[in-house]
Amino acid sequence: METKIILKRGKESSLDRFHPWIFSGAIARIDGNPNEGDIVAVYDSEGNFRARGHYQIGSITVRILTFEDEPIDFNWWGLRLENAYMMRKALELTNNPQTTCYRLVHGEGDLLPGLIVDIYGSTAVIQAHTVGMYLSRQIIAEALKVIYEDRLISIYDKSSATVPFKAGLNAIDGYLYGSHSEGIVLENGNKFAIDWETGQKTGFFLDQRNNRQLVRHYSKGRNVLNTFCYTGGFSVYGLAGGANSVTSVDSSERAVELAAKNVELNFGTAAAHRAVASDVFDFFKKDTQTYDLIILDPPAFAKHQKALGNALQGYKRLNARAISRIAEGGILFTFSCSQAVNREQFRNAVFSAAAIARRNVRILHQLTQPEDHPINIYHPEGEYLKGLVLYVE
Ligand code: SAH
Repeated sequence: METKIILKRGKESSLDRFHPWIFSGAIARIDGNPNEGDIVAVYDSEGNFRARGHYQIGSITVRILTFEDEPIDFNWWGLRLENAYMMRKALELTNNPQTTCYRLVHGEGDLLPGLIVDIYGSTAVIQAHTVGMYLSRQIIAEALKVIYEDRLISIYDKSSATVPFKAGLNAIDGYLYGSHSEGIVLENGNKFAIDWETGQKTGFFLDQRNNRQLVRHYSKGRNVLNTFCYTGGFSVYGLAGGANSVTSVDSSERAVELAAKNVELNFGTAAAHRAVASDVFDFFKKDTQTYDLIILDPPAFAKHQKALGNALQGYKRLNARAISRIAEGGILFTFSCSQAVNREQFRNAVFSAAAIARRNVRILHQLTQPEDHPINIYHPEGEYLKGLVLYVE
C-alpha cells in the first residue's frame, strides 16, 4: 500500500501554486511507514489527491514529482526526461557542432527535484541529491538510453558526495552503463578535457557558458586575471578573445593543472598563460599588479541561510580586493552561486566593496544562469547564479 501524507487544513495552498516541496510542518499525519526515498501520495485535509513524490527525512518531507494522479513508472520517467530533452533540443544544444556539453536535467527547473544530469559528448553524468532519485538511478539510466539511442556510450553515477549522508546509503560512484572515462568536449567551439570521475561537481561548470562568451567579447588586448579558475573555462575564452595575457588562480593544484591543460589543448604551449596554485586572498597579497579584466567566480560562500552574514562579508572583502586591482577603465566579472544569497544582497555587497576601494563603478551587465539551467517559476529559489559586469573607472 502506498503511503498517504495528509496535510493540515489550509496547508495545501503551496500546492495550488505548484511549489514542488512539502515541509514537515504542513503535515497532519502519515498513513503508512515509509522509508526515505519511497514514492508517497499527498492528500489535502478534505481527502483529495494532490501530488505524488519522493519521501524524505528532514524539513522537506516530500519532493513532488507530479501533481497528477499517475503512477511513477518507466513510462513516466521516459516522458519527463524526454520533456527535458525536447527543451534542450529547442535550445539547439542536443546536436550542436560548437557545443557538445550541456545540462539535460536541472532539478526542480525540469520538474525532477533532486536530480542533475549533465551531458558530455557521448556520456551522461547523473547526480542524485535525494535518496528517491538515487534509488531511481537505474530506471533513469534506462530511460536516457531510450532517448539518446546510440549517441550515449556511457552513463556515470556521481552521487556519493550529494546524496544525504545521514541516509547511510554508502553510495559509491560508478558506471551504470559503459565505461568511457574521460572526454574532450566543445563549448562555443572551445575544447575542454572533462574528467567526470575525479572532477568537481560533474566535472565541469556548465552554468557559465554564456558568461564565458561575454568574457571573450571583452578580452581583446586586456591582461586578464581569472580567479577560482577550476578547469580554466574563463581563461580559455579570454585567450580566444585575444587577451594580451591570462593569469589563472585556484587553491587546488589539480585545478590549476587542468586549466593549463585546457589552455594547451586550445592554443598550444606558447599561449600567454600563467597558472598559479594559491589561495586567492594570499595571491592578492603577494601579487601587486593591476589587471584590465578580473573574473571572480568563487564557490558558494553560503550553503545555508545561517552562513549568510559571513558570506556577505566574504563577498565584500573579495570584491574590494579585486576592484582595487583593476586598472583604470578595466572590467570586473563578479559572481555568486550561493542559493542563500539573493540578487539584492549580492549587489549590495559588491557596491560596498566598490565604496571601500573608492572607485567609480558602473554596471554593464547583470548575469544569471544559462537556459539549460531553467528556473521553475513555482520554485524561484532555483535562481542561484548571480553575476555583475562592472566598468571600473
Ligand atoms: N570559475 C570556474 C568554477 C569555479 S568553482 C569555472 O568556470 O569552471 C570554485 C573553484 O574555487 C574551485 O576550483 C576551488 O578549488 C576554488 N577555490 C575555493 N576556495 C578557494 C580559495 N580560497 N582560493 C582559491 N581558489 C579557491
